[in-house]
Amino acid sequence: MLSLSDRAARIVQAEIRNMSIECEKVGGINLAQGVSDTEVPPLVRRAAQVAIDEGVNSYTRYDGLRELREAIARKLRRHCGIEADPESEITVSAGSTGAFYCACLALLNPGDEVILFEPYYGYHLNTLLAVEAVPSYVTLRAPDWTFAPEDLERAISPRTRGIMVCTPANPSGKVFSRSELEAVADAAGRHDLFVFTDEIYEHFLYDGRRHVSPGSLPGMAERTIIISGLSKTFSITGWRIGYAVSRPRWAKMIGYLNDLVYVCAPAPLQRAVAVGLDELPPGFYDELRSKYQRKRDRICAALKRAGLPPCVPEGAYYVLADVSRLPGETSKEKAMNLLRKARVASVPGEAFFHGSAGESIVRFCFSKQDGELEEACRRLEGLD
Ligand code: PLP
Repeated sequence: MLSLSDRAARIVQAEIRNMSIECEKVGGINLAQGVSDTEVPPLVRRAAQVAIDEGVNSYTRYDGLRELREAIARKLRRHCGIEADPESEITVSAGSTGAFYCACLALLNPGDEVILFEPYYGYHLNTLLAVEAVPSYVTLRAPDWTFAPEDLERAISPRTRGIMVCTPANPSGKVFSRSELEAVADAAGRHDLFVFTDEIYEHFLYDGRRHVSPGSLPGMAERTIIISGLSKTFSITGWRIGYAVSRPRWAKMIGYLNDLVYVCAPAPLQRAVAVGLDELPPGFYDELRSKYQRKRDRICAALKRAGLPPCVPEGAYYVLADVSRLPGETSKEKAMNLLRKARVASVPGEAFFHGSAGESIVRFCFSKQDGELEEACRRLEGLD
């Protein structure tokens, strides 16, 4: 009898889509989905139009347009203090999601274990499952989402091949401190592990924090696969432009697999992103931070008033809130209850943990236009 693959049976469908459907049914405000709906920088939009008109419409090299790889290398030097060779160490892919998938295909064997800090981002888990890797977990401690080096050490087994670090993190908003990253680097060095990093929220940092790329720590360039992209920073989630940065011996195969799966990322949009990386002034990033910090402060204040204490995020644009006081046995029931009462959709905490640690929390996304966010906050504040 025909059936799906064993691999397919392991994939867990994200709850986010379900909540979006339920939200539409009640005419709610969707703070479940992480789609940034702020404006695309006009310079970037225009550059895409010009690129199409000028004929940048064919396949690009398997690892991306040279001008984009060079712009990414300049950005890595400027922003992260990292030197990367645009000719051999950068792979442009179909979003950071594509870059991570290709990196996993290139570097992991079935049965290899990869450590996830939880709460985790569901795509990280599912991508690992899709390549038949095995997740193991370090559960971060609420409300600050910290861990001790011993927690990490305990999660390492002879089958461990990598550690996944998402900083700033979705869904917790955790920004790994330098000493936490040093603990990761130390464990990776002693056990000879890859470190996969997801730095897609690198510009979404609050209260004066600065981004520290795990790949910039001494000795880490050899074993780190940096994953990032411009979906969030330029509000171009549908363009699918992201990249991986790693040593040439890894980058070559990541690039070949990128060719196999995606052929290349959209050519004219690669050109436009290169223009954005090179030409947007530092003020663009400062404004992004202050704009999102205001949104964060607004929703955290509303959650406090609603009696749903938030874990105030240090970065990214999500907030986890304690919904213990809402009726319901599970986080799903609590999120549905909140949707019915306040007409605001959130993601049940169970989507971010392998065990039951998420049952009394939900995640809100605050990457919304100010008017819509304000209305959502008023609805939350009116919750009895
Ligand atoms: N990584 C994290 C942690 C995310 O939260 C998201 C989107 O929500 C992505 C990656 C997706 O990025 P991209 O659009 O570059 O594939």
